[in-house]
Amino acid sequence: MIFLVAGCVLLGLVFGSFANVLVYRLPRGESIVSPGSRCPSCGHALSWYENIPLASWLVLRGHCRHCDEAISIRYPLLELCLGLTWGYMAWHFGWEMELVTALIFSMMLWVLTWIDLETGLLPDVITLPGIAIGIVFGMVLGHLQDSVIGAVAGYSLFWLVARVFLLLTGREGLGYGDFKLLAMLGAFLGWQALPFVIFISSFCGAVIGSIYLLLTRKHVRAQIPFGPYLAASGMIWLLWGSDLLRWYLDVIKPA
Ligand SMILES: [Zn+2]
Repeated sequence: MIFLVAGCVLLGLVFGSFANVLVYRLPRGESIVSPGSRCPSCGHALSWYENIPLASWLVLRGHCRHCDEAISIRYPLLELCLGLTWGYMAWHFGWEMELVTALIFSMMLWVLTWIDLETGLLPDVITLPGIAIGIVFGMVLGHLQDSVIGAVAGYSLFWLVARVFLLLTGREGLGYGDFKLLAMLGAFLGWQALPFVIFISSFCGAVIGSIYLLLTRKHVRAQIPFGPYLAASGMIWLLWGSDLLRWYLDVIKPA
């Protein structure tokens, strides 16, 4: 078990490094395979020892060795996020097929979260394959029907909410990226997750969004990315959804 957890932490750091490439290049429409990693500022090609997760950033103290430009804290942070998430997933799921699903799912969610925070977009190149991968895993894990219903219901629910919102207020509340992300969550987690995901993400989004608007004194219509809340709610359901459901049925319902 300790080897599995340690292995997943290390693998998470490495894939976190790749996730950084995705976060930087996907919104810019650049190839994710070539060229190799470069300094975003001067284009200096990174040698292998400048490209070690966490360590390189720490050794270089967050600056490019070539042009001395500051390198975003996002690089080591995202590597750390993925390393810790994957380690925890390994500990939580153990040697099960669910672990493979969880690793892929959590990596996609971290990438989407950071892209949404930086650009306000949830690119189709992740969400659409995400829906397909979620359905394939649904088939492998024996809940294909839940996955398909989850994907269709996820997209339709947000589409409907956005329609009503548009009719009532005359402006767009949710983006198409949010529809597709909810469809992806439905595909991976099954339709049973949707009420929880929608409730928790809207609640946290409203609370944190209000605090943010108060602190920054921005206009109420300032666009606040909703993707990170959806991603976090999906991750919580993946890890503790069945416990939460049992707790709800045992404790809340009979009362
Ligand atoms: Zn540079």
